[in-house]
Amino acid sequence: MSESKKMSLTVKVLLGMALGIIVGLIINLTGLNAPGSFVNEYIVNGLFHVIGKMFVNALKMLVVPLVFFSLICGVCGIGDIRMLGRVGGKSFALYMLTTAIAIATAILIAATLGIGKGMNIATDAAFSGKDSPPLTQVLIDIIPKNPIHAMANGDMLPIIFFSILVGISMLMVGKKAKSFIEGAEIANEIMMKMVNIIMAVAPYAVFALIAKAVATLGLGLLASLAGYVGVLVGSLMFHLFITLMIILKIFSGLSPAMFLKKIRNVQVFAFSTASSNATIPVTMRTVTERFGVNNSVAAFTVPFGATINMDGTAIMQGVATVFIANVYDVPLGVGGYLTVILMSVLASIGTAGVPGVGLIMLSMVFTQVGLPVEGIGLVLGVDRLMDMIRTAVNVSGDATVSCIVAKSEGKMDVDVFNDPDAGIFDEEEITLDEIVEAEMKEVIEETHNK
Ligand code: ASP
Repeated sequence: MSESKKMSLTVKVLLGMALGIIVGLIINLTGLNAPGSFVNEYIVNGLFHVIGKMFVNALKMLVVPLVFFSLICGVCGIGDIRMLGRVGGKSFALYMLTTAIAIATAILIAATLGIGKGMNIATDAAFSGKDSPPLTQVLIDIIPKNPIHAMANGDMLPIIFFSILVGISMLMVGKKAKSFIEGAEIANEIMMKMVNIIMAVAPYAVFALIAKAVATLGLGLLASLAGYVGVLVGSLMFHLFITLMIILKIFSGLSPAMFLKKIRNVQVFAFSTASSNATIPVTMRTVTERFGVNNSVAAFTVPFGATINMDGTAIMQGVATVFIANVYDVPLGVGGYLTVILMSVLASIGTAGVPGVGLIMLSMVFTQVGLPVEGIGLVLGVDRLMDMIRTAVNVSGDATVSCIVAKSEGKMDVDVFNDPDAGIFDEEEITLDEIVEAEMKEVIEETHNK
């Protein structure tokens, strides 16, 4: 396939995003999104909504089986339980470290610029906080009472735990489990194929998701909250382009430029879905096939990161805390800010990467440091857009740590990482090959005749 054709999916997805922004802006700024209007009812909340939701559902549909089978294969592929422990320990430490750095930098930037000082904005958006689970419960819930229940609920930590245990037990059973291991490998391959099938429709879905989000956003609010939005987006970009890339370079020696080039697709998916969890299939595909991270590492680090690593969310919490503290004129002091850092790092462990969860974590942080939880109402209007941006940063952090851990364990194919074309989505991959079709016919006939 020619180079230009190979590139087409990334280009198409970016195009879908750009068009989505333009169409969404037109609808928003011309007032076509007025409740009850044709465009609002049938296009934005009809067509765009349905296409977008169907796509997000399709991505979510892949998550549980993909994580389950790839982790089983990963564990069997490692074949060494000590390495598994090292991968777990290293990724946990790096995830916590990056999140702590993220929020500390955000607080520093926001406090230096003094955002929200002397501001007097009325809030009519009421926000009442929900609690995120206490750490003790998070620890208990890592062990599923019922793995099927955990899978049905998409609870990532217990699914990870169960899958690893299945993998380890398969290794212990040894030769007798051979066909099961092979089965898991085939199932994993099938799931990856499904990721490709769903990615083929991504440009249209990304268009619909973004057009709907932009059309319904309170863009007017952006101006009144320009200080908050500006500092938040600036801090997110600083973390993505500077902090994470320095960490990548120092710990792995890999090229930040190559990383940023290849991670774009994952970021667009995260941006459009505002969910690290729903993005898992795309992150997993990119990390393994585009970056060259061995499945034995990625199968663990990607879903683990989607659940416990939220750099972007932590940055939002840091900036929002400073902002609201200044608006309400509540001095927090160094002790207060340290509590904020600790709380949001801990909160990120217990909350899954789904849309809007950052606000729940924020209310927990506010309660802890004595800030009024209603204050969150101030930033509520712009949170959907901020959620999209911070989720793109969250998944970039997951991929960064996956690369670092894989490189340090010798589980990374650096040639694949350095090859700009490696693993590029190829639409031919999802066409039913005539040879494969003929082979399948033979297999089916053979099975029938048995
Ligand atoms: N939407 C974010 C994620 O899925 C979490 C959040 O910040 O609300 O990573």
